[in-house]
Amino acid sequence: MSRLLLHTCCAPCLSSVEERLRDGYELDIFWYNPNIYPPEEYERRLQELERFGRIIGRPIRVHREAGDQEAWRETVVDYAHQPEGQQRCRECIRFRLKKTAEIAKAERYDLFATTLTVSPRKNAALVNFVGQQLAEEVGIPFLVADFKKNNGYLRSIELSKKYNLYRQEYCGCVYSLNAMLARKLAKTRAEAAMNVK
Ligand code: SF4
Repeated sequence: MSRLLLHTCCAPCLSSVEERLRDGYELDIFWYNPNIYPPEEYERRLQELERFGRIIGRPIRVHREAGDQEAWRETVVDYAHQPEGQQRCRECIRFRLKKTAEIAKAERYDLFATTLTVSPRKNAALVNFVGQQLAEEVGIPFLVADFKKNNGYLRSIELSKKYNLYRQEYCGCVYSLNAMLARKLAKTRAEAAMNVK
């Protein structure tokens, strides 16, 4: 069976992907997400992933490096104010998957992959393009997939309910946090304006 290093961003996204891949691969779950802000949120998502890992009997490989949050910020800062889904996200995804590919290569895995495409907010074509670029650069195959398809996203919601998994309200970075807060504020103001009329 092929050894696969599977990058994941959170417990809900891992849930349906692990279920889909478990019979076809020898899986190791890999956490590398220096994009997540603030630190309390980073720890919360990681702790929830580790809790879920214990439920399904899979330890989580956690990777952190000194200065990686600053390196991530420098990678995306030129695109900071772009909307989600554009160049900022492309660089962010590349940053995280590059480390995954390098470690998979160094440790003689057969291929690497990510759970990111489970989310309806993630463009699978973009994720797969970045993964395939890195596969060539680093020299290890990438598993091309769109895990939201075939009810993958719906299944992640089901499993999240079953295991009472924490589902975050924003993608992860400070920019996506600010965008989420702005959307909430606009909604609150709109509702308040309706009530005044
Ligand atoms: S919105 Fe998500 S994918 Fe895009 S830069 Fe922020 S954390 Fe990365």
